[in-house]
Amino acid sequence: MSLIVQKYGGTSMGSVERIQNVARRVAKWHAAGHQVVVVPSAMSGETNRLLGLAREISPTPDLRELDMLAATGEQASSALLAIALMRQGVAARSYAGWQVPVRTDSAYTKARIRSIDDARVRADLDAGRVVIVTGFQGIDDEGNITTLGRGGSDTSAVAVAAAMGADECLIFTDVDGVYTTDPRVVPEARRMNVISFEEMLEMASLGSKVLQIRAVEFAGKYHVPLRVLSSLTDPLIPVEDEMHSGTLITFEEDQKMETAVVSGIAFSRDEAKITLRNVPDTPGVAYSILGPVAAANIDVDMILQNISLQGMTDFSFTVNRNDFARTLELLRNQIAPAVGAGEVVSDDKVAKVSIVGIGMRSHVGVASLMFRTLAEEGINIQMISTSEIKTSVLINDKYMELAVRALHKAFELDQESVQPEA
Ligand code: ADP
Ligand code: ASP
Ligand code: MG
Repeated sequence: MSLIVQKYGGTSMGSVERIQNVARRVAKWHAAGHQVVVVPSAMSGETNRLLGLAREISPTPDLRELDMLAATGEQASSALLAIALMRQGVAARSYAGWQVPVRTDSAYTKARIRSIDDARVRADLDAGRVVIVTGFQGIDDEGNITTLGRGGSDTSAVAVAAAMGADECLIFTDVDGVYTTDPRVVPEARRMNVISFEEMLEMASLGSKVLQIRAVEFAGKYHVPLRVLSSLTDPLIPVEDEMHSGTLITFEEDQKMETAVVSGIAFSRDEAKITLRNVPDTPGVAYSILGPVAAANIDVDMILQNISLQGMTDFSFTVNRNDFARTLELLRNQIAPAVGAGEVVSDDKVAKVSIVGIGMRSHVGVASLMFRTLAEEGINIQMISTSEIKTSVLINDKYMELAVRALHKAFELDQESVQPEA
Protein backbone atom coordinates (compact mmCIF):
# COMPACT_ATOMS: atom_id res chain seq x y z
CA MET A 1 0.00 0.00 0.00
CA SER A 2 1.33 3.40 -1.00
CA LEU A 3 0.32 6.88 0.00
CA ILE A 4 -0.37 8.86 -3.16
CA VAL A 5 -1.20 12.57 -3.40
CA GLN A 6 -3.09 13.47 -6.57
CA LYS A 7 -3.64 17.03 -7.70
CA TYR A 8 -6.29 17.86 -10.29
CA GLY A 9 -6.18 21.23 -12.06
CA GLY A 10 -8.99 23.53 -13.11
CA THR A 11 -9.72 21.94 -16.49
CA SER A 12 -9.68 18.50 -14.90
CA MET A 13 -12.32 19.74 -12.41
CA GLY A 14 -14.04 21.92 -15.02
CA SER A 15 -17.56 20.43 -15.08
CA VAL A 16 -19.75 18.00 -13.20
CA GLU A 17 -18.85 15.29 -15.73
CA ARG A 18 -15.13 15.96 -15.31
CA ILE A 19 -15.46 15.87 -11.51
CA GLN A 20 -17.24 12.53 -11.83
CA ASN A 21 -14.34 11.30 -13.98
CA VAL A 22 -11.84 12.46 -11.37
CA ALA A 23 -13.88 10.53 -8.80
CA ARG A 24 -13.69 7.40 -11.00
CA ARG A 25 -9.94 7.75 -11.33
CA VAL A 26 -9.47 8.30 -7.61
CA ALA A 27 -11.81 5.40 -6.79
CA LYS A 28 -9.68 3.17 -9.03
CA TRP A 29 -6.49 4.03 -7.09
CA HIS A 30 -8.32 3.56 -3.81
CA ALA A 31 -9.66 0.18 -4.92
CA ALA A 32 -6.10 -0.85 -5.90
CA GLY A 33 -5.25 -0.53 -2.22
CA HIS A 34 -3.59 2.88 -2.11
CA GLN A 35 -4.23 5.63 0.39
CA VAL A 36 -5.17 8.70 -1.63
CA VAL A 37 -5.14 12.39 -0.73
CA VAL A 38 -6.64 14.54 -3.47
CA VAL A 39 -5.84 18.22 -3.90
CA PRO A 40 -8.25 19.89 -6.33
CA SER A 41 -8.12 23.30 -7.96
CA ALA A 42 -11.19 25.43 -8.45
CA MET A 43 -13.28 24.62 -11.53
CA SER A 44 -11.62 26.24 -14.56
CA GLY A 45 -12.41 29.92 -14.92
CA GLU A 46 -13.74 30.20 -11.39
CA THR A 47 -10.74 31.93 -9.82
CA ASN A 48 -10.66 34.43 -12.71
CA ARG A 49 -14.40 34.99 -12.36
CA LEU A 50 -14.11 35.72 -8.64
CA LEU A 51 -11.13 38.03 -9.01
CA GLY A 52 -12.91 39.77 -11.90
CA LEU A 53 -15.91 40.51 -9.70
CA ALA A 54 -13.64 42.14 -7.14
CA ARG A 55 -11.97 44.23 -9.81
CA GLU A 56 -15.35 45.39 -11.07
CA ILE A 57 -15.89 46.90 -7.65
CA SER A 58 -12.38 48.23 -7.03
CA PRO A 59 -9.19 48.50 -9.11
CA THR A 60 -7.14 47.90 -5.97
CA PRO A 61 -9.15 45.51 -3.80
CA ASP A 62 -7.94 44.72 -0.30
CA LEU A 63 -5.66 41.68 -0.54
CA ARG A 64 -7.03 39.95 2.55
CA GLU A 65 -10.52 40.11 1.10
CA LEU A 66 -9.29 38.87 -2.27
CA ASP A 67 -7.96 35.73 -0.56
CA MET A 68 -11.19 35.30 1.35
CA LEU A 69 -12.97 35.45 -2.00
CA ALA A 70 -10.65 33.36 -4.17
CA ALA A 71 -10.41 30.54 -1.63
CA THR A 72 -14.10 29.76 -2.13
CA GLY A 73 -13.40 28.31 -5.58
CA GLU A 74 -11.39 25.40 -4.18
CA GLN A 75 -13.81 24.86 -1.34
CA ALA A 76 -16.65 24.33 -3.82
CA SER A 77 -14.77 21.95 -6.11
CA SER A 78 -13.46 19.92 -3.15
CA ALA A 79 -16.92 19.39 -1.72
CA LEU A 80 -18.27 18.45 -5.15
CA LEU A 81 -15.54 15.85 -5.53
CA ALA A 82 -16.32 14.39 -2.09
CA ILE A 83 -19.98 14.17 -3.07
CA ALA A 84 -19.05 12.48 -6.37
CA LEU A 85 -16.83 9.94 -4.59
CA MET A 86 -19.50 9.11 -2.03
CA ARG A 87 -22.04 8.72 -4.82
CA GLN A 88 -19.67 6.12 -6.30
CA GLY A 89 -19.54 4.30 -2.99
CA VAL A 90 -16.16 5.58 -1.81
CA ALA A 91 -15.87 7.01 1.69
CA ALA A 92 -14.49 10.53 1.34
CA ARG A 93 -14.15 13.74 3.30
CA SER A 94 -13.00 17.19 2.21
CA TYR A 95 -11.15 19.80 4.26
CA ALA A 96 -10.57 23.48 3.64
CA GLY A 97 -7.00 24.66 4.22
CA TRP A 98 -7.86 26.14 7.60
CA GLN A 99 -9.39 22.89 8.79
CA VAL A 100 -6.27 20.79 8.20
CA PRO A 101 -4.67 23.26 9.00
CA VAL A 102 -2.25 24.34 6.27
CA ARG A 103 -0.35 27.13 7.99
CA THR A 104 1.12 29.95 5.91
CA ASP A 105 2.67 33.35 6.38
CA SER A 106 0.44 36.41 5.96
CA ALA A 107 1.52 37.50 2.47
CA TYR A 108 -1.99 37.63 1.01
CA THR A 109 -2.33 36.45 -2.61
CA LYS A 110 1.18 34.93 -2.51
CA ALA A 111 1.46 33.28 0.88
CA ARG A 112 4.07 30.63 1.61
CA ILE A 113 3.26 27.39 3.37
CA ARG A 114 5.03 27.05 6.72
CA SER A 115 3.66 23.78 8.05
CA ILE A 116 0.91 21.25 7.60
CA ASP A 117 -0.62 19.30 10.44
CA ASP A 118 -1.46 15.92 8.95
CA ALA A 119 -3.21 14.38 12.00
CA ARG A 120 -6.79 14.70 10.75
CA VAL A 121 -5.89 13.62 7.24
CA ARG A 122 -4.00 10.59 8.50
CA ALA A 123 -6.82 9.55 10.81
CA ASP A 124 -9.25 9.64 7.89
CA LEU A 125 -6.90 7.70 5.64
CA ASP A 126 -6.46 5.09 8.34
CA ALA A 127 -10.24 4.84 8.55
CA GLY A 128 -10.26 3.95 4.85
CA ARG A 129 -11.40 7.32 3.49
CA VAL A 130 -10.17 9.28 0.53
CA VAL A 131 -9.20 12.69 1.86
CA ILE A 132 -9.63 15.85 -0.17
CA VAL A 133 -7.60 18.90 0.83
CA THR A 134 -8.45 22.16 -0.94
CA GLY A 135 -5.61 23.44 -3.07
CA PHE A 136 -4.33 27.02 -3.20
CA GLN A 137 -5.18 28.08 0.35
CA GLY A 138 -4.11 28.12 3.96
CA ILE A 139 -4.46 30.06 7.17
CA ASP A 140 -2.04 32.46 8.84
CA ASP A 141 -1.21 32.72 12.53
CA GLU A 142 -4.02 35.23 13.10
CA GLY A 143 -6.60 32.93 11.54
CA ASN A 144 -6.91 34.79 8.23
CA ILE A 145 -7.47 32.80 5.06
CA THR A 146 -4.56 33.12 2.63
CA THR A 147 -3.92 31.95 -0.93
CA LEU A 148 -0.66 30.79 -2.47
CA GLY A 149 -0.54 32.67 -5.77
CA ARG A 150 -1.95 31.66 -9.16
CA GLY A 151 -1.38 28.01 -9.90
CA GLY A 152 -0.86 27.44 -6.17
CA SER A 153 -2.72 24.14 -5.97
CA ASP A 154 0.40 22.46 -7.36
CA THR A 155 2.26 23.75 -4.33
CA SER A 156 -0.48 22.63 -1.94
CA ALA A 157 -0.24 19.12 -3.36
CA VAL A 158 3.54 18.87 -3.15
CA ALA A 159 3.52 20.37 0.35
CA VAL A 160 0.93 17.82 1.52
CA ALA A 161 3.00 15.05 -0.09
CA ALA A 162 6.14 16.33 1.67
CA ALA A 163 4.45 16.71 5.05
CA MET A 164 3.00 13.21 4.88
CA GLY A 165 6.03 11.50 3.34
CA ALA A 166 3.90 10.38 0.38
CA ASP A 167 5.32 7.84 -2.02
CA GLU A 168 4.37 9.93 -5.06
CA CYS A 169 2.76 13.22 -5.93
CA LEU A 170 0.86 13.03 -9.19
CA ILE A 171 -0.07 16.30 -10.89
CA PHE A 172 -3.00 15.53 -13.16
CA THR A 173 -3.57 18.22 -15.77
CA ASP A 174 -4.91 18.89 -19.25
CA VAL A 175 -1.68 17.90 -21.05
CA ASP A 176 -0.03 14.50 -20.79
CA GLY A 177 3.26 15.70 -19.36
CA VAL A 178 5.95 18.36 -19.58
CA TYR A 179 6.82 19.33 -23.15
CA THR A 180 9.83 21.04 -24.71
CA THR A 181 7.61 24.12 -24.74
CA ASP A 182 3.89 24.84 -24.37
CA PRO A 183 2.27 22.50 -26.91
CA ARG A 184 -0.53 25.02 -27.37
CA VAL A 185 1.96 27.47 -28.87
CA VAL A 186 4.21 25.03 -30.71
CA PRO A 187 2.29 21.98 -31.91
CA GLU A 188 5.62 20.24 -32.73
CA ALA A 189 6.68 20.37 -29.06
CA ARG A 190 7.69 16.97 -27.69
CA ARG A 191 6.75 15.43 -24.38
CA MET A 192 9.69 14.49 -22.19
CA ASN A 193 9.56 11.21 -20.28
CA VAL A 194 11.89 12.67 -17.71
CA ILE A 195 13.05 16.19 -16.92
CA SER A 196 15.72 17.07 -14.38
CA PHE A 197 14.61 18.87 -11.27
CA GLU A 198 16.88 21.83 -12.05
CA GLU A 199 15.48 22.27 -15.53
CA MET A 200 11.93 22.00 -14.27
CA LEU A 201 12.72 24.62 -11.66
CA GLU A 202 13.99 27.02 -14.34
CA MET A 203 11.11 26.27 -16.73
CA ALA A 204 8.57 26.91 -13.97
CA SER A 205 10.28 30.07 -12.74
CA LEU A 206 10.46 31.38 -16.31
CA GLY A 207 6.77 31.01 -16.99
CA SER A 208 5.91 27.38 -17.92
CA LYS A 209 2.76 27.29 -15.92
CA VAL A 210 2.46 23.52 -16.11
CA LEU A 211 3.91 23.55 -12.56
CA GLN A 212 4.01 26.41 -10.10
CA ILE A 213 7.60 27.28 -9.18
CA ARG A 214 7.07 26.80 -5.46
CA ALA A 215 5.76 23.30 -6.06
CA VAL A 216 9.04 22.43 -7.76
CA GLU A 217 11.03 24.08 -4.97
CA PHE A 218 9.16 22.04 -2.37
CA ALA A 219 9.69 18.85 -4.32
CA GLY A 220 13.42 19.59 -4.44
CA LYS A 221 13.72 20.48 -0.78
CA TYR A 222 11.87 17.40 0.46
CA HIS A 223 12.70 15.06 -2.42
CA VAL A 224 9.06 14.44 -3.28
CA PRO A 225 8.73 12.13 -6.29
CA LEU A 226 6.74 14.25 -8.72
CA ARG A 227 5.02 13.31 -11.98
CA VAL A 228 2.92 15.36 -14.41
CA LEU A 229 0.26 13.39 -16.29
CA SER A 230 -3.07 13.69 -18.05
CA SER A 231 -6.46 13.70 -16.36
CA LEU A 232 -8.20 13.54 -19.72
CA THR A 233 -7.45 9.89 -20.51
CA ASP A 234 -9.85 7.04 -19.78
CA PRO A 235 -10.15 7.20 -15.97
CA LEU A 236 -10.16 3.43 -15.73
CA ILE A 237 -6.79 2.75 -17.42
CA PRO A 238 -4.83 0.30 -15.23
CA VAL A 239 -3.04 1.89 -12.27
CA GLU A 240 0.23 0.21 -13.34
CA ASP A 241 0.08 1.95 -16.73
CA GLU A 242 -0.94 5.26 -15.28
CA MET A 243 1.83 5.29 -12.69
CA HIS A 244 4.44 5.19 -15.45
CA SER A 245 2.83 7.70 -17.81
CA GLY A 246 3.51 11.42 -18.23
CA THR A 247 6.74 13.13 -17.20
CA LEU A 248 8.80 12.30 -14.15
CA ILE A 249 10.76 15.11 -12.50
CA THR A 250 14.01 13.41 -11.58
CA PHE A 251 16.69 14.37 -9.08
CA GLU A 252 19.23 12.09 -10.72
CA GLU A 253 20.91 13.96 -13.54
CA ASP A 254 22.37 10.79 -15.02
CA GLN A 255 18.90 9.25 -15.24
CA LYS A 256 17.87 11.93 -17.63
CA MET A 257 17.45 10.43 -21.05
CA GLU A 258 17.55 13.65 -23.02
CA THR A 259 21.06 14.78 -23.88
CA ALA A 260 20.07 18.07 -25.45
CA VAL A 261 22.01 21.24 -24.74
CA VAL A 262 18.74 23.13 -24.64
CA SER A 263 15.90 21.05 -23.22
CA GLY A 264 13.04 23.50 -23.28
CA ILE A 265 11.74 26.96 -24.00
CA ALA A 266 9.70 28.89 -21.48
CA PHE A 267 7.88 32.16 -21.95
CA SER A 268 5.87 34.57 -19.93
CA ARG A 269 3.58 37.43 -20.78
CA ASP A 270 3.23 38.33 -17.12
CA GLU A 271 5.98 40.90 -17.43
CA ALA A 272 6.14 44.66 -17.16
CA LYS A 273 9.14 46.93 -17.56
CA ILE A 274 9.71 50.14 -15.67
CA THR A 275 12.49 52.64 -16.37
CA LEU A 276 13.57 55.42 -14.12
CA ARG A 277 15.24 58.14 -16.21
CA ASN A 278 18.06 60.41 -15.09
CA VAL A 279 18.95 58.78 -11.84
CA PRO A 280 22.02 60.27 -10.10
CA ASP A 281 24.63 57.49 -10.46
CA THR A 282 25.87 57.35 -6.89
CA PRO A 283 26.68 54.43 -4.57
CA GLY A 284 23.54 52.96 -3.05
CA VAL A 285 21.22 54.10 -5.80
CA ALA A 286 20.10 50.57 -6.74
CA TYR A 287 19.26 49.97 -3.11
CA SER A 288 17.36 53.26 -2.83
CA ILE A 289 15.21 52.21 -5.78
CA LEU A 290 14.78 48.49 -5.20
CA GLY A 291 14.79 48.49 -1.38
CA PRO A 292 11.32 50.06 -1.10
CA VAL A 293 10.07 47.81 -3.93
CA ALA A 294 11.21 44.71 -2.03
CA ALA A 295 9.75 46.11 1.20
CA ALA A 296 6.37 46.26 -0.60
CA ASN A 297 6.74 42.51 -1.26
CA ILE A 298 7.16 43.03 -5.01
CA ASP A 299 9.54 40.64 -6.78
CA VAL A 300 11.93 42.25 -9.21
CA ASP A 301 13.19 40.06 -12.03
CA MET A 302 15.48 41.51 -14.70
CA ILE A 303 17.54 44.61 -13.91
CA LEU A 304 19.48 46.87 -16.26
CA GLN A 305 21.51 49.94 -15.39
CA ASN A 306 22.93 51.92 -18.29
CA ILE A 307 26.40 53.47 -18.23
CA SER A 308 26.21 56.94 -16.82
CA LEU A 309 26.43 60.15 -18.78
CA GLN A 310 27.48 63.19 -16.76
CA GLY A 311 26.75 61.32 -13.54
CA MET A 312 23.21 60.38 -14.57
CA THR A 313 21.95 56.97 -15.61
CA ASP A 314 18.76 55.14 -16.61
CA PHE A 315 17.67 52.28 -14.40
CA SER A 316 15.24 49.65 -15.73
CA PHE A 317 13.73 46.58 -14.15
CA THR A 318 10.86 44.16 -14.67
CA VAL A 319 8.13 43.02 -12.30
CA ASN A 320 5.16 40.72 -12.63
CA ARG A 321 2.30 42.43 -14.48
CA ASN A 322 0.08 41.92 -11.45
CA ASP A 323 2.40 44.14 -9.45
CA PHE A 324 2.77 46.70 -12.23
CA ALA A 325 0.23 49.29 -11.06
CA ARG A 326 1.44 49.10 -7.48
CA THR A 327 5.10 49.42 -8.50
CA LEU A 328 4.42 52.41 -10.76
CA GLU A 329 2.54 54.16 -8.00
CA LEU A 330 5.40 53.51 -5.59
CA LEU A 331 7.99 54.83 -8.03
CA ARG A 332 6.06 57.93 -9.03
CA ASN A 333 4.94 58.93 -5.55
CA GLN A 334 7.82 57.83 -3.39
CA ILE A 335 10.99 56.49 -4.98
CA ALA A 336 11.59 58.86 -7.90
CA PRO A 337 11.25 62.01 -5.75
CA ALA A 338 13.39 60.43 -2.99
CA VAL A 339 16.34 59.59 -5.27
CA GLY A 340 15.99 62.76 -7.34
CA ALA A 341 15.24 60.87 -10.56
CA GLY A 342 13.56 62.17 -13.70
CA GLU A 343 10.70 60.61 -15.61
CA VAL A 344 9.22 57.18 -14.87
CA VAL A 345 8.60 55.33 -18.14
CA SER A 346 6.75 52.04 -18.30
CA ASP A 347 5.86 49.30 -20.76
CA ASP A 348 3.60 46.39 -19.94
CA LYS A 349 3.54 45.05 -23.49
CA VAL A 350 6.65 42.97 -23.00
CA ALA A 351 7.27 39.24 -22.74
CA LYS A 352 10.16 37.11 -21.56
CA VAL A 353 11.38 34.18 -23.62
CA SER A 354 13.95 31.78 -22.17
CA ILE A 355 15.94 28.79 -23.31
CA VAL A 356 16.72 26.24 -20.58
CA GLY A 357 19.07 23.27 -20.41
CA ILE A 358 21.63 21.77 -18.05
CA GLY A 359 23.74 21.10 -21.13
CA MET A 360 24.29 24.87 -21.42
CA ARG A 361 26.79 24.60 -18.56
CA SER A 362 29.30 22.85 -20.77
CA HIS A 363 28.53 24.37 -24.16
CA VAL A 364 29.46 27.76 -25.53
CA GLY A 365 27.61 29.58 -28.28
CA VAL A 366 24.13 28.62 -27.14
CA ALA A 367 23.11 32.18 -26.33
CA SER A 368 24.54 33.44 -29.61
CA LEU A 369 22.37 31.00 -31.57
CA MET A 370 19.44 32.40 -29.63
CA PHE A 371 20.35 36.00 -30.48
CA ARG A 372 21.00 35.14 -34.13
CA THR A 373 17.64 33.41 -34.44
CA LEU A 374 15.82 36.42 -32.99
CA ALA A 375 17.80 38.79 -35.22
CA GLU A 376 16.83 36.78 -38.29
CA GLU A 377 13.19 37.22 -37.31
CA GLY A 378 13.72 40.96 -36.84
CA ILE A 379 12.90 40.77 -33.13
CA ASN A 380 14.53 43.41 -30.95
CA ILE A 381 15.93 42.34 -27.58
CA GLN A 382 15.26 44.85 -24.78
CA MET A 383 16.94 43.07 -21.86
CA ILE A 384 18.96 39.90 -21.35
CA SER A 385 19.60 37.82 -18.26
CA THR A 386 21.51 34.59 -17.91
CA SER A 387 22.30 31.87 -15.41
CA GLU A 388 24.31 28.68 -15.75
CA ILE A 389 21.42 26.82 -17.34
CA LYS A 390 19.26 29.48 -18.97
CA THR A 391 19.26 32.60 -21.11
CA SER A 392 16.27 34.92 -21.04
CA VAL A 393 15.39 37.86 -23.26
CA LEU A 394 12.75 40.52 -22.88
CA ILE A 395 10.96 41.40 -26.13
CA ASN A 396 7.82 43.14 -27.36
CA ASP A 397 5.02 40.75 -26.48
CA LYS A 398 3.51 40.79 -29.94
CA TYR A 399 6.51 38.78 -31.17
CA MET A 400 6.50 36.27 -28.33
CA GLU A 401 4.95 33.32 -30.12
CA LEU A 402 7.04 33.93 -33.22
CA ALA A 403 10.18 33.94 -31.07
CA VAL A 404 9.23 30.73 -29.28
CA ARG A 405 8.48 28.91 -32.54
CA ALA A 406 11.68 30.13 -34.20
CA LEU A 407 13.82 29.11 -31.22
CA HIS A 408 12.12 25.72 -30.90
CA LYS A 409 13.08 25.08 -34.52
CA ALA A 410 16.59 26.56 -34.28
CA PHE A 411 17.46 24.32 -31.33
CA GLU A 412 15.85 21.33 -33.09
CA LEU A 413 13.62 20.59 -30.15
CA ASP A 414 11.08 19.04 -32.48
CA GLN A 415 13.62 16.31 -33.35
CA GLU A 416 14.33 13.19 -31.32
CA SER A 417 18.06 13.56 -31.91
CA VAL A 418 20.80 15.20 -29.88
CA GLN A 419 21.06 18.96 -30.19
CA PRO A 420 23.31 20.48 -32.83
CA GLU A 421 26.55 22.19 -31.96
CA ALA A 422 25.55 25.81 -31.56
P1 ADP B 1 -3.96 23.04 -14.32
O1 ADP B 1 -5.24 23.77 -14.32
O2 ADP B 1 -4.09 21.56 -14.48
O3 ADP B 1 -3.07 23.42 -13.17
P2 ADP B 1 -2.41 24.77 -16.03
O4 ADP B 1 -3.17 25.49 -17.09
O5 ADP B 1 -2.01 25.52 -14.82
O6 ADP B 1 -3.23 23.47 -15.67
O7 ADP B 1 -1.08 24.10 -16.64
C1 ADP B 1 -1.19 23.24 -17.76
C2 ADP B 1 -0.90 24.05 -19.03
O8 ADP B 1 0.46 24.44 -19.01
C3 ADP B 1 -1.03 23.28 -20.32
O9 ADP B 1 -2.36 23.27 -20.77
C4 ADP B 1 -0.09 24.02 -21.25
O10 ADP B 1 -0.78 24.91 -22.10
C5 ADP B 1 0.78 24.84 -20.32
N1 ADP B 1 2.22 24.66 -20.51
C6 ADP B 1 3.13 25.66 -20.55
N2 ADP B 1 4.35 25.19 -20.76
C7 ADP B 1 4.24 23.84 -20.85
C8 ADP B 1 5.18 22.80 -21.06
N3 ADP B 1 6.49 23.05 -21.21
N4 ADP B 1 4.72 21.53 -21.08
C9 ADP B 1 3.41 21.27 -20.92
N5 ADP B 1 2.47 22.22 -20.72
C10 ADP B 1 2.87 23.50 -20.69
N1 ASP C 1 -7.46 28.13 -8.67
C1 ASP C 1 -6.14 28.73 -8.52
C2 ASP C 1 -5.77 29.46 -9.79
O1 ASP C 1 -6.56 29.49 -10.74
C3 ASP C 1 -5.09 27.75 -8.12
C4 ASP C 1 -4.76 26.67 -9.13
O2 ASP C 1 -5.51 26.44 -10.08
O3 ASP C 1 -3.72 26.03 -8.95
O4 ASP C 1 -4.73 30.03 -9.86
MG1 MG D 1 -1.86 25.06 -12.82
